[in-house]
Amino acid sequence: MYPESNILTQSPAVAGRKFVLFAMGAVVLIWCLIGLDLWIASRHAAAKISFLPGETTPSELPTWKLFLLVLSVLLTALVAQAYRQLLATKRQVEAGLALQRLIVDHASEAMILTDSAQRILSVNSAFEQITGYAGKDVFGKTPTMLSAGHQGLASHRNVWDFVAENGSWEGEIWDRRKDGTIYPKQMRITAICEDGVQLSHFVAVFSDISESRAQAERLEYLARHDPLTNLPNRLALDAHLDTLLEGATPGINRLALLIIDLDNFKTINDSLGHHAGDRLLSELARRLGAQMDLTKRLFRLGGDEFVVVVDQLINEEAVIELVQQLAGGIGDPCNIDGHVLHCTSSIGISMYPEDGRDAQALIRNADTAMYYAKANGRNNHKFFTEPMNAAANKRLHLESELWCALAENQLVLYYQPQIDLLSGKVVGVEALVRWRHPLRGLIPPAEFIPVAEECGLILPLGHWVLLTACRQAREWLDAGIDMGEMAVNISAHQFRQPEFISSVQAILAETGLPTGRLELEITESTIMHEVDAAIQTLAQLRAMGIKLAIDDFGTGYSSLAYLRRFPLDRLKIDRSFLADVETDPDAASLVTSIVLLGRSLGLQLVAEGVENFAQAEFLRTLECERVQGFHFYQPVCAEEVVGVGRFLESAALQT
Ligand code: C2E
Ligand code: MG
Ligand code: MG
Repeated sequence: MYPESNILTQSPAVAGRKFVLFAMGAVVLIWCLIGLDLWIASRHAAAKISFLPGETTPSELPTWKLFLLVLSVLLTALVAQAYRQLLATKRQVEAGLALQRLIVDHASEAMILTDSAQRILSVNSAFEQITGYAGKDVFGKTPTMLSAGHQGLASHRNVWDFVAENGSWEGEIWDRRKDGTIYPKQMRITAICEDGVQLSHFVAVFSDISESRAQAERLEYLARHDPLTNLPNRLALDAHLDTLLEGATPGINRLALLIIDLDNFKTINDSLGHHAGDRLLSELARRLGAQMDLTKRLFRLGGDEFVVVVDQLINEEAVIELVQQLAGGIGDPCNIDGHVLHCTSSIGISMYPEDGRDAQALIRNADTAMYYAKANGRNNHKFFTEPMNAAANKRLHLESELWCALAENQLVLYYQPQIDLLSGKVVGVEALVRWRHPLRGLIPPAEFIPVAEECGLILPLGHWVLLTACRQAREWLDAGIDMGEMAVNISAHQFRQPEFISSVQAILAETGLPTGRLELEITESTIMHEVDAAIQTLAQLRAMGIKLAIDDFGTGYSSLAYLRRFPLDRLKIDRSFLADVETDPDAASLVTSIVLLGRSLGLQLVAEGVENFAQAEFLRTLECERVQGFHFYQPVCAEEVVGVGRFLESAALQT
């Protein structure tokens, strides 16, 4: 399997062996001569040849012969000793060689030894394992027989020729195994010059790097792709934009960047759980992906944000057409865990070169346009325009102003009465926050609550609202005014704080408001998120005697099975359902179903947004317990609401 290579025949032991053999030959020759001499002498004796006077008898050996004899004996002893040593050295060398072979054969790297003409002389076991070729298959052939042809046979040859010229080479190269599969290998080839001048051998050492390369490729893939949708991520987007923009010329190339943000995804996620949210995102990613081609690429920025980059753009009409296709794909119903979801999206668009000449500017401006699309009622798209930046700055400004508003007591609570439909009495008030802005006047909560939620200000703001509302309710009680329960809106962020219950307890203790006088309004999506934890929190609040209501009921995606498990007192029917109730039979039957659902769950019903007599009458026929709306009264400040309460109490219900 391992033919004796030239290298192995050049060992000092082999050279020594030649010398000893030569010496042995010489000794044997001398002994032969002595033997011959003795034989001639004995022949003379046998022939009884008389010795001439002066001739020596065989027993009288001349001195030189004696000397030669002694020398021969000594030389023989020396040669025998040298031979023994030679044998010992040979055994040593063989043992050393066997050890080296053992090392070579157990090396994880494959090794090839070739002669100067690149003909393979020897290979090790790792070579056989990696390539699938046995040694006998390759001996005498050149390593180019292993070439995958992947980088061309020529380049394979070039590598070996390079080594012949430069002494060594190291790098990656593709080879083909015996079974035909190709694989990358990391190889080092060294040229060996026996006498330091003349090239005699090549040694190639290599390892199969297909696994480590696959792992590196996987890591690279993971770094640049989103694991949920398998879409390229933000890092890949930056790289893609950089490449496109590097080769782009303003005035010649045009490019569009679309940021697509799903509307109300948070509600779906919170209501149906992250698993359903993930499935929805995967499905939408699949639909959007199906609309891509060579000039359009889809990325996921994270959360519910996708990006489409369009290059080789002809005109804006093409972008609008694409936007419509994308929105259409998103809008088709999605069946997720038995829920049929209808999604909409807000899309912001920036164009190269007019809206930005680098990746950051294009992404930032498309993002601003997307926010603008959201602010304009969602489910639409907006091209970026310069004034939008001013609007984005305004939002930032609003955020910093809001911190001051809280510190400088610019927030104020308004109260909207809730009326018992049967008795016409005020049975409660809902506290609704407003911002009394020094320059802009009274700002409604829809303009600043979302900002407060985003920047974390909702926690101190929510605490202030709860404390102020409880204080007010206590004041009314102290003044002998019965306004019923004080309903306070609690944001999801507030509700999920671990210290939420203790802060409610502390406020009740501080203000001295009886717990039964406080009602907390929580939205569906708030409690549908981490249901078990939500049930625990609700149960603790209820055990304290606090009333609990689900606000804006019908706008989330509550599961009926879960609703039964929540310890609740009331359902507040969202005002959007009431809007067309007197004209649209579908709307009327929807409200009827909600009322029946509430009843089946043993909950009281509160209808929000009652704006006219017909709506109030309709609710009365359904025996809805409570109503709240402009038809009865608008939210007003604390001083005014007291008058309203008294007025409504004294007069019969004016419906
Ligand atoms: P909400 O909790 O559903 O409050 C009812 C909203 O409906 C109030 O709007 C109220 O003014 C309005 N409304 C009442 N009756 C009618 C009606 O007949 N027709 C119409 N069109 N609207 C009516 P507002 O005060 O602008 O509050 C909007 C939302 O802001 C609230 O909805 C609530 O979600 C949030 N909000 C208000 N105050 C707070 C607060 O202190 N904390 C938190 N977290 N959210 C608050
Ligand atoms: Mg409310
Ligand atoms: Mg509401």
